[in-house]
Amino acid sequence: DRIISANLMMEDQVAEFSLRPRYLAEYIGQGQVKDNLKVFIEAAKLRQEALDHVLLYGPPGLGKTTLSNIIANELGVNIRTTSGPAIERPGDLAAILTNLQEGDVLFIDEIHRLHRTVEEVLYPAMEDFALDIIIGKGPSARSVRLDLPAFTLIGATTRAGLLSAPLRDRFGVVARLEFYTVDELSYIVSRAADILQVQIVGEAAHEIGMRSRGTPRIANRLLKRVRDFAQVRGDGVITLDLAQSALSLIQVDGLGLDQIDHKMLTAIIQSFRGGPVGLDTIAATIGEESQTIEDVYEPYLLQIGFLQRTPRGRAVTPLAYRHLGLPVPGDTVG
Ligand code: ADP
Repeated sequence: DRIISANLMMEDQVAEFSLRPRYLAEYIGQGQVKDNLKVFIEAAKLRQEALDHVLLYGPPGLGKTTLSNIIANELGVNIRTTSGPAIERPGDLAAILTNLQEGDVLFIDEIHRLHRTVEEVLYPAMEDFALDIIIGKGPSARSVRLDLPAFTLIGATTRAGLLSAPLRDRFGVVARLEFYTVDELSYIVSRAADILQVQIVGEAAHEIGMRSRGTPRIANRLLKRVRDFAQVRGDGVITLDLAQSALSLIQVDGLGLDQIDHKMLTAIIQSFRGGPVGLDTIAATIGEESQTIEDVYEPYLLQIGFLQRTPRGRAVTPLAYRHLGLPVPGDTVG
């Protein structure tokens, strides 16, 4: 199983329950988003209204689902969770909407993957808390409007640009989640170790934080892998030494890059002279899906300045050459 994957693994789901923060105060990082949400939540509660619709976007594993659950918790309402591809027909969405209670949160993950026809049901639901139903067929068909309880839609997506404009415009709050700092990730690792009842020294938590690609889900996964080594090969305590050797055994390098990152950067360097080269060409060369590269791998490589997006495709930067131990083209030797 890949550590860096967008898909939830079995163990994530098991751990999800215990490791997931439940209140804003336990939610590390994302200061700006958190501060704003605090105000909006407070205001909605004061006015006894449903919170405005919220769109959360950012790479997988940054805490969109977690934050949605926290928002519902802080509002003191129920949350109903579904995902774009899971809602197949307009009727499915209508059923979900009519079952909501006043003030509830409806969380739709991967909202950019909603079917067009389903999306159209969402417009009046979001804007007027109403459902337009067509009764009958042909010339005698008429539209009936049903009232819905006021609710809050929270949509999550990896890229806001994937949303249609009419849908995006209907969100009152749009928040972009950022990659976490090493300090924040170290803290998340220490907190998770506490919950999992495993001892970890501060330097080891920091090391895992450094190799987590700015992503809490990866931090939790790495911690669990390292814990296995500590229990089987060591005395159960995660020391810096143990963390370092475990992480190199599972082929996660000092910056958190795995074999696929290496394969991709090397392919661009060796087959395309460092780029620029189109995403689809890269994907075909290394046998990955373009979508996976764009959503899962590329954002972090862009963030640390190893990759650049140009109008003609992706290009590898000198930083990446140096990290891979390869000569930078154009650098004078000696
Ligand atoms: P997304 O929905 O963006 O893919 P999740 O909300 O599922 O990400 O987050 C993945 C895991 O990372 C969660 O189960 C949680 O344990 C951890 N996590 C995410 N954000 C935070 C945070 N801000 N503080 C602590 N842990 C977090």
